[in-house]
Amino acid sequence: MKDRFAAILIRKEGDAQIAEDARLSLSDLMEGDVVVAVSHSTVNYKDGLALSGRAPIVRKFPMIPGIDLAGRVETSAHPDFKPGDPVVLNGYGLSETHYGGYAEYARVKGEWLVKLPPAISPADAMAIGTAGYTAMLAMLALEDARVTPGKGKVVVTGAAGGVGSVAIAILAKLGYTVVASTGRTEEEPYLKSLGAAEIIPRTELSAEPRMLGKERWAGAVDSVGSKTLANVIASLSYGGAVAACGLAGGLDLPTSVAPFILRGVSLLGIDSVQCPMPRRLEAWQRLATDLDMKKLSTMTHTIKLSGVRKAADDILAGRVRGRLVVEIP
Ligand code: NDP
Repeated sequence: MKDRFAAILIRKEGDAQIAEDARLSLSDLMEGDVVVAVSHSTVNYKDGLALSGRAPIVRKFPMIPGIDLAGRVETSAHPDFKPGDPVVLNGYGLSETHYGGYAEYARVKGEWLVKLPPAISPADAMAIGTAGYTAMLAMLALEDARVTPGKGKVVVTGAAGGVGSVAIAILAKLGYTVVASTGRTEEEPYLKSLGAAEIIPRTELSAEPRMLGKERWAGAVDSVGSKTLANVIASLSYGGAVAACGLAGGLDLPTSVAPFILRGVSLLGIDSVQCPMPRRLEAWQRLATDLDMKKLSTMTHTIKLSGVRKAADDILAGRVRGRLVVEIP
């Protein structure tokens, strides 16, 4: 174990947040019963929000950002983990109230850790990241709502982003006919390579929502929120369901009860941060079997810790395609 190690640290100066390189030692880390040697992290949309300070994600200063981490257990006082175990941690307050993944070591609670299935390496786990694990939570919610491939098309909004890209790959592998809604129609070849059957421009779903539209989709995975989600709800077919994951287009939801009481549709809320452990384990097991790792690698770019701050700006500006993995030295 190193005496001093690299990290990114966010501190508060007046009203401003400043993210800078730091050298820390283990004694600087927060409480926990497991020390993880972090080999990989990732940049999700929420990391962009935390690093930029554009939303109040960080609630304790100073803070090591990074909502995800993967690596191997270095030391453990937790009965379920021993040195060398490959592990992943998503959410549970990382980068909010507990030090996160942009550091060579993390000290965390063992009860937050998931032991990786053999088919998923720590690098794969961060190519998946919270975005991909959320895409799987969305798919599980659609399955629970009995949205099966035979019922009709499934639309994925924010398709070229992290949640969207992984959702397309999973749904296509499971036999669903996937419609990808994107603002980047030039990404059609990429989205089709992931398994999308059809591409529609984002503008088709961002107009002023109607109470009810034509019945177009049996299911949906939505990363965008706002008018887009309202239009998706209004276009679900009878008994359909949408898994609402994100707010890339806004926090509001200008909808009506009409689709719920006239078509019996369901709005399924997806939360990855405090998701109970049994559901997390189910999601990671299903990722091992239902996500094509070759497709995952085509949607992934790898950057260094030094590239994280630029990547945060890029993801907020909608310039990132698919997933970003951060290699920790
Ligand atoms: P990305 O930035 O990778 O993807 C978001 C995508 O949304 C973009 O690529 C873009 O897709 C689309 N988009 C961006 N801005 C707008 C806009 N103004 N209007 C319409 N579409 C837009 O982010 P992630 O995939 O990591 O996360 C997606 C969302 O899900 C975020 O809001 C994030 O906070 C949320 N999230 C929630 C989780 C939960 O626990 N509920 C967990 C993980 C993420 P395109 O270019 O194809 O149009």
